[in-house]
Amino acid sequence: MEEKELVEQGYRKYHGETIDVYFNTHVCEHSGNCVKGNGAIFDLKRKPWIDPDQAAKEEVMRVIDTCPSGALQYIQKEGAEK
Ligand code: SF4
Repeated sequence: MEEKELVEQGYRKYHGETIDVYFNTHVCEHSGNCVKGNGAIFDLKRKPWIDPDQAAKEEVMRVIDTCPSGALQYIQKEGAEK
């Protein structure tokens, strides 16, 4: 999905250096896979609770791919390889 579509559907953007993460609270099923998968990227006690720069892009994608609801999405940034 493209950013425009995600934002139109109510996703909020969390900026990262090499990857942006999008989250829609209305879609979330509260499985907890994200915080269990990587508590540094996904930390409910922090604001903002998602920080894509806490891990490598590959790890961000790995954890988001375990989200069962689709509440988490990502878009890799072109030309932003580390
Ligand atoms: S993994 Fe997805 S569905 Fe589960 S709590 Fe995180 S955002 Fe919500």
